[in-house]
Amino acid sequence: MDNLTELYQEIILDHYRQKHHSGLREPFDVEVGHVNPSCGDELTLRVSVVDDQVVDVSYEAVGCSISQASTSVMTDLVIGQPVAESHQLYQGFLTMIEGQGTVELDEEVYGDAIAFYGVAQFPARVKCAMLGWSALRDALIRVETVTNGDGTVLSRFWDTTVPSPKSQM
Ligand code: ZN
Repeated sequence: MDNLTELYQEIILDHYRQKHHSGLREPFDVEVGHVNPSCGDELTLRVSVVDDQVVDVSYEAVGCSISQASTSVMTDLVIGQPVAESHQLYQGFLTMIEGQGTVELDEEVYGDAIAFYGVAQFPARVKCAMLGWSALRDALIRVETVTNGDGTVLSRFWDTTVPSPKSQM
């Protein structure tokens, strides 16, 4: 085991032992429940969005250290970010995790999330690492639908033929 692998495992264990932003808080706009049956991970996640900004992500997690630590790291990254930027962070993390060791993340942007680089080489753990991020994406899509309660479902994050109304970066 090389030093980098040890460092990455240390980061994951730190988040597992002391989860950031853990617990279910109010106010929130949407609550979602996600499970990863292959490992037994369970997650209840709430998001609060104000003016297109993720102001809080709170959660209750049961399961393995990777799923819980990944959710903890995710909240560090997206709380305070615009919704569009949070979706971009999700996409980047997904690309790295599915890259099976061929894609590295920018530490300047992703901070502790780079520690999951090693997980990408274990396909069985990919769903563990993605659980929190998948729940976040699900919740943010639902928030958009709720926020635009006139029945319109916004497609700006997913339909690439529709240009983003404003640049967040
Ligand atoms: Zn797991």
